[in-house]
Amino acid sequence: MDIVKGNMGWIEVIVGPMFSGKSEELIRRLRRAEIARQRVQIFKPAIDQRYTATGIVSHSGLEIASELVSEAHEILLKVSPRTEVVGIDEGQFLGDGLVDVCTQLADLGKRVMVTGLDTDFMGRPFEPIPRLLAVAEEITKLLAICVRCGNPAVHTQRLVASEELIVVGATGTYEARCRRCFEPMLAHQKVEQQHAAHPSAPEGSPPAIKAQAASR
Ligand code: ADP
Ligand code: ZN
Repeated sequence: MDIVKGNMGWIEVIVGPMFSGKSEELIRRLRRAEIARQRVQIFKPAIDQRYTATGIVSHSGLEIASELVSEAHEILLKVSPRTEVVGIDEGQFLGDGLVDVCTQLADLGKRVMVTGLDTDFMGRPFEPIPRLLAVAEEITKLLAICVRCGNPAVHTQRLVASEELIVVGATGTYEARCRRCFEPMLAHQKVEQQHAAHPSAPEGSPPAIKAQAASR
């Protein structure tokens, strides 16, 4: 945002698939705000503890300290009135309240920056991020590189057998794919194969996947 008069707040959203550099971009913007001596607070969902328990870490290893929250409204309780900039990573894990929380913070005069996946493992809109885009002042859409063909990748390909909307994981669990190489039904096919091989196994993701999801 170039022209901002007085203490008006606004919402910036950074979207794209996994590995597209959303966290890197958020960390870059937050560092610049800190250099400008603005008061910054950073939040991430407690569910996402892939690399460290607290900080935001990009896939390339950049890191910035953050506070953990389980759902969006906790952010309102934790934000100090003096805070000028609020950063939120992985917004898709914070529930439907995210849009209301970001709106309230921006109305209070704060600059709110949020990253999130705009589509899920099947390529469908991943709420609440699409609704957040609708009320944001500024949107940055990033692309990754397709690991199959090297073209720009808009999709997050799930590689493991689970059809749950949220399966936390990184390399090995997901990879970036372009629209040509994306296989939206792959996770479903893997679940079917697993059932065919072990007909008595319970529905849902097996413990092996949950354990893998928690590691890097
Ligand atoms: P996001 O927050 O969007 O998941 P990150 O900021 O955590 O992305 O990570 C981006 C970094 O991931 C890149 O700078 C690069 O080092 C690394 N990376 C790994 N795989 C890919 C890929 N397929 N395409 C682009 N970057 C990748
Ligand atoms: Zn491709």
